[in-house]
Parts: sequence; C-alpha cells; structure tokens
Amino acid sequence: MRVSPSTAQSSHVEAAPAAPAGVAARLLAVRRRIADLATEFSRANTPRLVAVSKTKDAATVREAYDAGQRVFGENYVTELVDKARLLPEDCQWHFIGHLQSNKARLLCSVRNLACVECVDSAKVATALDRAWGSCDRAQRLRVFVQVNSSGEDSKFGVAPDGVGNVARHVRDACPNLELVGLMTIGALDYSPNPACFERMATCRRMLAAELDVPEHSLELSMGMSADYETAIRMGSTSVRVGSTIFGKRA
Ligand SMILES: *Cc1c(COP(=O)(O)O)cnc(C)c1O
Repeated sequence: MRVSPSTAQSSHVEAAPAAPAGVAARLLAVRRRIADLATEFSRANTPRLVAVSKTKDAATVREAYDAGQRVFGENYVTELVDKARLLPEDCQWHFIGHLQSNKARLLCSVRNLACVECVDSAKVATALDRAWGSCDRAQRLRVFVQVNSSGEDSKFGVAPDGVGNVARHVRDACPNLELVGLMTIGALDYSPNPACFERMATCRRMLAAELDVPEHSLELSMGMSADYETAIRMGSTSVRVGSTIFGKRA
C-alpha cells in the first residue's frame, strides 16, 4: 500500500531526526515535533496524536501509555478487542482500518472505543449506529468519513464527490453517531503542496458549506509516519503515527 519515497525526497526530507532508542523516547520526540509545528503554523489547537499500535503487543503499547499516551489506533477488529482487554480503561481507541458492517457489533463491544475513522458508506454508518445504539453508552460514537483522496483502487474511502451524501446520512439518519470530520490515507507526495492533502482541504470546505457549519468545526485526520509534518502544515488536526513510534512492523 505504501509507495517508497521517490528521488524527489532530497528537498523535503520528512524522516524524524535520528530516532532515539525506545518507544517512550520516540513518542516524546513525535509529540515535541507536533507541538513545534502547531506553534510554527499558529494553530489554535495542537493536532491530536493517534499512536498506531497495530501488530504491536500489549506490553509495547503499555510503554507508550506509561509515557503519557492515551489515544491509540488499531486496524483489525479482533486485535483491538483482544488488546483493549489487556490495557487500562482510559485508553481511547480509534479504529482506523477497513470496517465491514458485519463487524460493527463486535467493534462496538470495546468499552473504550473513542472513534471510528473509516466510515466509507451509508451502510457502514447505519451498522455502527445500530450497534452503538444497543450498547447504552452516554456519548455518541465519534466518526470520520474516510475519503479516497488519491483515487487509487487499493485505497478504501468515499470518492470526494460522494462525501456529502455519506456525511448527511450520518447527520440525518444516525442519531448515535457524531460526525467529527474527514479522514484520508492519501498517496505519499513530497511536493510542497501534496495533491491529496489539498484535495482534503477543498473537500472539508465544500462539506462545511453543504452542512452549513463552520469549516473549523470539521476535523481532518491525515498524516502518517512519512508525511505527518506536511499534513499538519496542510491543515491536519489529527495525525496517525505508527512505525516512527513503535518501530517497523513485521
Ligand atoms: C498503519 C496505518 C497508519 C500508521 O502508519 P505508519 O506509516 O506506521 O505511521 C496510519 N493510518 C492508517 C490508516 C494505517 O493503516
């Protein structure tokens, strides 16, 4: 799924500064970088860091927890269900993988599920709405609509011109869900203004107009290990960083 960095990398090197050893040290380095960027771009709020812990065992996730991290991202429903049981209840789990509607009920059984970032159809939204509604939770379930901003067949997500339909379905037909914003994976792009992130900014502007809400009331979840700095510069409010914190995945 990931494209290896191209030869254009030299002018926009995004790799974190020489990685210090250990999960805690790497986590703190990423947090510091995010805070610095928020200052540099005069952002009212520091972007959220979702530490992507997929394939990593509970002990490794615990190292990040002990260093103060509470928001974690997982891609696979059964892995999340198992891991959530082994970690403290104040972890806030974001589901960021592809969700099939028949897994919505199992996913919603995670007590501290905080957010589902990958709603890519009205059908999945409806399944989540019903599942969450039957769980008797105090809060609505926060969701992002996932956008396929690169147009690649290999990426999930709604095409940009279909975002309004799914978002309105969440708002009008899913009383147990709260629309938080838009999420994308995008294609790696080392140009100064990467096309996918620009497309997301446009998408948000159009959706805000369509829903008649202020633009800044909609979040943008974009940016991973290789491009989170660029994503923040392009307006991301939530970055999903895995390997830079937890090391390469097998
Ligand atoms: C795995 C994954 C990430 C984290 O990727 P890294 O390159 O390891 O930072 C972020 N978002 C999604 C949707 C992922 O699947």
